Amino acid sequence: MISVGNFVTKCLGASFAATKPLNSANYHHYHHYHHCQNQCHQSGYRTSYEVGSRLFSTKPSSTPPTGAEESLPPEASDFPEWAYEPRDFFRFEILHQSEKSQARVGRIHTPHGVIDTPSYVAVATNAALKGVDFRDADQTGQQLVFSNTYHLMLHPGAELIRDAGGIHKFTNRKGPFITDSGGFQVFSLAYGSVHEELSSKGELKRASRGSKRANSNGSANPVKVSENGVIFRSYRDGSKFLLTPESTVQAQKDIGADIIIPLDELPPYHIDRNALVESVDRSHRWEARSLNEHLKNINNQAMYCVVHGGVDRELRTKSVDYLTSLPFDGYAIGGSLGNGKEELKELLDWMMPQFDEGERQGKPRHLLGIADEESIRNAVVRGIDTLDSCYPTRVARHGSLLTRNGSIKIKSRKYSRDFGVKIDEECNCTTCQHYDRAYLWHLFKANEPLFVTLAAQHNIHYMNDLMKDTRQSIIDGEI
Ligand SMILES: [Zn+2]
Repeated sequence: MISVGNFVTKCLGASFAATKPLNSANYHHYHHYHHCQNQCHQSGYRTSYEVGSRLFSTKPSSTPPTGAEESLPPEASDFPEWAYEPRDFFRFEILHQSEKSQARVGRIHTPHGVIDTPSYVAVATNAALKGVDFRDADQTGQQLVFSNTYHLMLHPGAELIRDAGGIHKFTNRKGPFITDSGGFQVFSLAYGSVHEELSSKGELKRASRGSKRANSNGSANPVKVSENGVIFRSYRDGSKFLLTPESTVQAQKDIGADIIIPLDELPPYHIDRNALVESVDRSHRWEARSLNEHLKNINNQAMYCVVHGGVDRELRTKSVDYLTSLPFDGYAIGGSLGNGKEELKELLDWMMPQFDEGERQGKPRHLLGIADEESIRNAVVRGIDTLDSCYPTRVARHGSLLTRNGSIKIKSRKYSRDFGVKIDEECNCTTCQHYDRAYLWHLFKANEPLFVTLAAQHNIHYMNDLMKDTRQSIIDGEI
């Protein structure tokens, strides 16, 4: 029998155009039409069914594959006992628990070094920080770096990174990496970016569950969701691509990050409750399938679950209870986190205490995709240990420089004669050691590529200083 993991990997390896064009008639049974140059097109149907029945159903093995959609996700006891044992290659140590808040100072030990928490996680989408050399970023105290499986799968391909010896060898960066499942980007194709979706008040819903409805551009739906996974088109060449709970784990094994993430569904903020219930249940089933695939070959990697439920208390609680019962190594907070900073704060207020119950308390918690300064302050006191965001490098490109007195927009003419004035008086980054605001104003206005590097270097250094100060403040009993 061919495992689903091999099945998918082979298909992706053979060709990105692994599936035939779909329409509403064949969509639900697209695995019948699955087509590639390997033997798997013969066995695709059978293998997905076998895995489905083993993982999701206590029904007799003659249950048809569609039964998986109605079944409950596996229970904690369905996973092997050894999976709950501590890992020798990954460990979270809590050094200090605040008495004032839920904030804590800790250390995540990974095969590629320690992550001091609370920690900012820089985003290197294509295994590179935008404008900054890893060597420079790491010198500012950057420990964990986040790369996106979606982008790396499309280019250069997970297999190429595997053949290079994994992401650490490929990038020649020795520090720890985390990769996501790719689901976030795929569902962003469906619903638009989180920002677009929020501002469209829910009108931007292009994902399809089998309908032929065209999207707002009049083109075919870019994403199709089924119990098995998600089919989407590559933004690079338009070819169809299949992402399943198993195939993302295979890709993340190839990429070789220290922390990996199971496939989840990212529903839009504007969604009716029944659809959200369905989506959370599907994420649970997908995450359990990814975990199962991961446990077949742990490969010195830790896996974090992704807690869902939007801003719905009951569903969030259900998601926390279910996912923390499984042998994940840490907990990521994902899904819709509210419409703005206030709602995020409220959500964390009632949700985070749930992570303090029993053994859950001893595992690291990661907030996905949010790390502006205000949100960091709000998240850390509520017990978040790590946060990732491309925000410091993204705003740097647009001329926003972070300082202890708020960010400055360097394009303003008022900085043009700030000779000898550093971006931030207290900053010791290489940019601030060598350049003043006047020169940076000039580089920005002249569109010099060097500006992006200098600005991003400063902003990343600033974030790591901020987290270092935050850790100290927790230890000093101020937070
Ligand atoms: Zn600086």
